[in-house]
Amino acid sequence: MQQQISLKLLPEQAADYKTVIDLLAKTTGKNATAITGYNTLKKSVDARGKSIWVTLTVTAFIDEPFHKRTIQPFDFKSVHQSQKKVVIIGAGPAGLFAALQLIELGIKPLLLERGK
Ligand SMILES: Cc1cc2nc3c(=O)[nH]c(=O)nc-3n(C[C@H](O)[C@H](O)[C@H](O)COP(=O)(O)OP(=O)(O)OC[C@H]3O[C@@H](n4cnc5c(N)ncnc54)[C@H](O)[C@@H]3O)c2cc1C
Repeated sequence: MQQQISLKLLPEQAADYKTVIDLLAKTTGKNATAITGYNTLKKSVDARGKSIWVTLTVTAFIDEPFHKRTIQPFDFKSVHQSQKKVVIIGAGPAGLFAALQLIELGIKPLLLERGK
């Protein structure tokens, strides 16, 4: 069985494979040996408070063989000569992601950041 699970962890917990396995076992009410592995779907950091928290969303493999998810390699083509251009204002996460998406589509992004 595969189950999608989100855990709220301290950074040192999120970085430790055995700790994550133990917490997945606790969450699912299973023995740690039943958790054969996990693939990370999403990892976000909340550094707004005194304690830093990592929210880890994983697909846990329970009582079945673990299959490591293969990450698709990026294949960015050159967009230097592209006739299409898009101007993006702001190099925050949204601007950077928009630029990556445009490059994937063969469109040249021009990213403008005002800085501080
Ligand atoms: C105090 C604080 C703490 C936070 N802590 C966390 C956290 O711990 N974890 C988390 O996940 N999220 C956190 N967030 C939220 C996170 O910062 C935002 O969700 C994220 O940055 C939004 O990305 P964005 O690209 O939409 O905007 P922004 O990151 O705001 O990026 C916009 C960019 O556009 C630039 N810009 C704006 N106007 C112009 C202009 N006219 N010309 C050129 N450039 C321009 C700005 O300089 C900026 O770099 C926090 C936010 C704040 C305010």
